[in-house]
Amino acid sequence: MYPKPIKEFIDKFAKLPGIGPRQAARLAFWLLNGPKETRQNLKRVLEGLDKDARTCGLCHYVIENDGNDKCHFCDNPSRDHKTICVVEKETDLATIERSGTYKGLYHVLGGLFSALDTAVPKHLKLPELINRIENRKKETEEVILALSPTHEGDLTAHYLERLLKPSKVKITRLGRGLPYGSDVEFADAQTLSGALESRKEIK
Ligand SMILES: [Zn+2]
Repeated sequence: MYPKPIKEFIDKFAKLPGIGPRQAARLAFWLLNGPKETRQNLKRVLEGLDKDARTCGLCHYVIENDGNDKCHFCDNPSRDHKTICVVEKETDLATIERSGTYKGLYHVLGGLFSALDTAVPKHLKLPELINRIENRKKETEEVILALSPTHEGDLTAHYLERLLKPSKVKITRLGRGLPYGSDVEFADAQTLSGALESRKEIK
């Protein structure tokens, strides 16, 4: 139905989270009929993701490609370096930061276990988390598993509990407030603060 450039656009954009083929088609025509400058700006920011962004060597949060190896959390001496908050994704970290309650460090896992596949997902930054704790055993006192209260979040948390147990650090999970099936990313500041403050130790 559509000519090749539009079809290709739809194929690529429909794969993005939250965008289906119909929205992709609307986007394609909106961009095509709009000013050229909008398309060029989009091209520039997409290239910037490759060129100007990379991940922190410690927590795997995104940093600017400016020669510094650590992000502004890991590199900040006024943060609490004894506590590591494990999150599924960068946008969860942003929500926790906005809540203003948490002043420790983070670890971005890059996903969760799948409910359909029992294998340990290879792309998760699990070995990196273990290495990080092993390398600074005296420094890390608590690991907060701030994973969404979903089946996938539970599977991941249970695996992490077993994985972290030998390291003898205190392991906690978010407490009350977040309804089952919800996503940390979309929690409001008050709920998230409450869940962080009422976090429970896993023994
Ligand atoms: Zn970092």
